[in-house]
Amino acid sequence: MVTKKKGDIIIRVRACNKCKEYISIDVEDLTRQEMVQEFDGAHRNHTVVTVNLEEVEKDFKNVEDQIRSAFIEI
Ligand SMILES: [Zn+2]
Repeated sequence: MVTKKKGDIIIRVRACNKCKEYISIDVEDLTRQEMVQEFDGAHRNHTVVTVNLEEVEKDFKNVEDQIRSAFIEI
């Protein structure tokens, strides 16, 4: 188990260039992986890219809470 310190790791995100929305990726979190799949599905015909958080955090909107609440409702 590797201890992650803030600032040590580069956060990778899935980002839609058309909608200006993003969700962060965590390969160790299964729920997160499903959320990423949901995000990919919702933006299937858009330009979805995997980038570092710092490249999008200023201009893009984080939609994690939105997607998470949709999961809880189901
Ligand atoms: Zn989109």
